[in-house]
Amino acid sequence: MTAVDLKPLVLAVADTVAAHADELTALDQAIGDGDHGLNMKRGFDAVRAEADALAGKPLPDALKAIGTRLVMTVGGASGPLFGTLFLTLGKELPANPDRAALAAALGKAMEAVAARGKSQTGQKTMLDVLVPVQLALAAGKHGAEIVAVADAAAQSTTPMQAIRGRASFLGERSVGHMDPGARSTALIVRALADAMGGRA
Ligand code: ADP
Ligand code: MG
Repeated sequence: MTAVDLKPLVLAVADTVAAHADELTALDQAIGDGDHGLNMKRGFDAVRAEADALAGKPLPDALKAIGTRLVMTVGGASGPLFGTLFLTLGKELPANPDRAALAAALGKAMEAVAARGKSQTGQKTMLDVLVPVQLALAAGKHGAEIVAVADAAAQSTTPMQAIRGRASFLGERSVGHMDPGARSTALIVRALADAMGGRA
């Protein structure tokens, strides 16, 4: 068993992604190819199927296994990026992380995603949520505050013009729509915070 009880977290994220798959697909239909909801649902359903085995592993191993599973199942541009996020968290986190360790590991994971995607904030991607969430964690913010930061950060992608990913092909026509990967990242943050209750 891990000190973090992983199973409820895995189930909460998979449930949220499944419940919002149509919404994510609609967002991706507006500025991409309309597969983000299905991509994410396929990936997190695969992770959910392994929830018991994951919960039996030390946290770093479980996170690496989640990352590998996401790379194998999500597909699209987002699969390797979400995979990199979890793989790096698995590499960086100790078995029993405190908040400072979590903030530091998320910092490394976010840098790994940026390197993999050759991307940075302001380009209308998942990084526009990951970076402010990491800063909020590092600044000592807690559950509801971090969720509010993530939601506002996803909203902030609406007026942006996409510079990376498929949406960038639309140029100025990508303006006025929320980025699907930013939205899915904010949904995952909310699911994790809710499932952790007062401990987030
Ligand atoms: P695809 O674009 O291949 O169809 P998805 O629809 O599953 O893949 O994922 C699209 C999301 O991936 C975007 O909304 C964006 O948040 C994210 N994304 C795409 N390219 C990049 C990149 N280079 N860096 C960071 N995030 C990216
Ligand atoms: Mg897509």
